[in-house]
Amino acid sequence: MTATAPGNGPRIVIVGGGAGGVELATRLGRRLGRHKADVVLVDRNPAHLWKPRLHEVAVGLIGSGDDETSYLAHGHAHDYAFSLGELIGLDTVRRVIRVGAIRSTESDEQVLEARDIAYDTLVLALGSRVNDFGIPGVLEHCHMLDSPAQAQHLQRSFLEAAVQVTMDRLDRLRIGIVGAGATGVELAAELHHAVHAMERYGGLGAAGRLDITLIDRADRVLPAVDPQTSEHALAALQRLGVKVLLGQGVERVTRDAFHLTNGETVPCAIKVWASGVIGHDVVDALAGLTVSKGRRIVVDSHLACIGVANIFAIGDCAAAAADGGAGLLPPTAQVAHQQAAYLARALTRRMAGKSVAPFRFRPRGTLVSLGADQAAGEIPTRRNQSVVPLRGALAKLLYVSLYHMHRVTLHGWLRATALFLADRLRRTTLPPVKLH
Ligand SMILES: Cc1cc2nc3c(=O)[nH]c(=O)nc-3n(C[C@H](O)[C@H](O)[C@H](O)COP(=O)(O)OP(=O)(O)OC[C@H]3O[C@@H](n4cnc5c(N)ncnc54)[C@H](O)[C@@H]3O)c2cc1C
Repeated sequence: MTATAPGNGPRIVIVGGGAGGVELATRLGRRLGRHKADVVLVDRNPAHLWKPRLHEVAVGLIGSGDDETSYLAHGHAHDYAFSLGELIGLDTVRRVIRVGAIRSTESDEQVLEARDIAYDTLVLALGSRVNDFGIPGVLEHCHMLDSPAQAQHLQRSFLEAAVQVTMDRLDRLRIGIVGAGATGVELAAELHHAVHAMERYGGLGAAGRLDITLIDRADRVLPAVDPQTSEHALAALQRLGVKVLLGQGVERVTRDAFHLTNGETVPCAIKVWASGVIGHDVVDALAGLTVSKGRRIVVDSHLACIGVANIFAIGDCAAAAADGGAGLLPPTAQVAHQQAAYLARALTRRMAGKSVAPFRFRPRGTLVSLGADQAAGEIPTRRNQSVVPLRGALAKLLYVSLYHMHRVTLHGWLRATALFLADRLRRTTLPPVKLH
């Protein structure tokens, strides 16, 4: 495969169609895809689900299929091509990426052999995975929320445990979550509401026998936000009956419990690990890139990878310095979204031989869902010197609108609004939480 497609300009290959990559492919497809460049998106999955919704899949508030966008159909509508496959290597001299063989999920037979895809410009948008920190038992016994498949697996375990409690095979539904960041806090709150929503269906009524424990080494929940927001979220969780253990590390995990460094044991049938992220293992195999602690790809102020030509990285997989050199930008959908928007403009200008200003992250605040109609968070003031707290239903409305804005980027206002209304209508005919 040659890098430059005849008649269609240079080839821009984007690897990873998550919060950052699919937005970039959409924007570049619209701007350049028809005549000026060959935009190719590569992902190991055939469809996109916005990662911040995974906890909703895990508790059954949405089915993962309800909300997935097929890359093939989306690419067709927005002038980019899609290629299914997992990145396994990079050759910066030949300017090709290596994509692994695809095997059948049914029979494990090889469907497609490993192949090379040539690029003129490459953008890595691989995301990250949950960090188990090498703690014994985490990988064997804990659920994680990195993919729709993992979220569905957790939802099934949760339903099965609820049935066992209802049939008195388990005395209580004990759920332990490690990590009191946004994922852990949102999951704890939504699990509480899901179990209560199930109660009305009798057969799955475990609400009175529910114990959720949230554990973190840090001394407050949501350590990355303003302390007042942390206090508000802690109080909300405690009102829901969630037990919060702060300043407690986990030493090991066994089939039935978390074992803490202070010698205590937290028994739980369902264990979720949501504590910090690390780059994917494949990053170490991408020759020529500079990789930071936490296995993130080091980029300069234009999001270009250090030491290699024509390769960029965005989102969780990129180690981009925060303004003023104060550490790295956090691995959030907000950062991935702004980097995708920047790179779409920057690559277009670059192709036209125009100058490109460096990327600047503009913090838009943080919002964390605390269940059915509650959220908490904060937005920065104009000059970024302090934050304005947001609470309750208004915060929830803004929280929901973040996903709507992602959909607007992907589908345009009209279709995104139609999808929003379709979701609302569907909800009127379905139980509030999936029961299968
Ligand atoms: C439960 C949960 C809740 C969250 N809530 C929020 C929130 O409220 N606000 C917020 O800002 N952030 C939130 N985040 C974080 C946010 O989801 C991530 O920061 C964001 O998705 C990162 O975007 P990305 O494009 O870098 O990676 P991702 O969205 O993770 O996408 C990476 C893509 O790369 C693909 N991929 C990975 N490896 C390969 C490979 N080797 N070959 C081919 N394809 C590959 C994956 O299939 C995926 O499609 C949440 C995360 C979770 C798990």
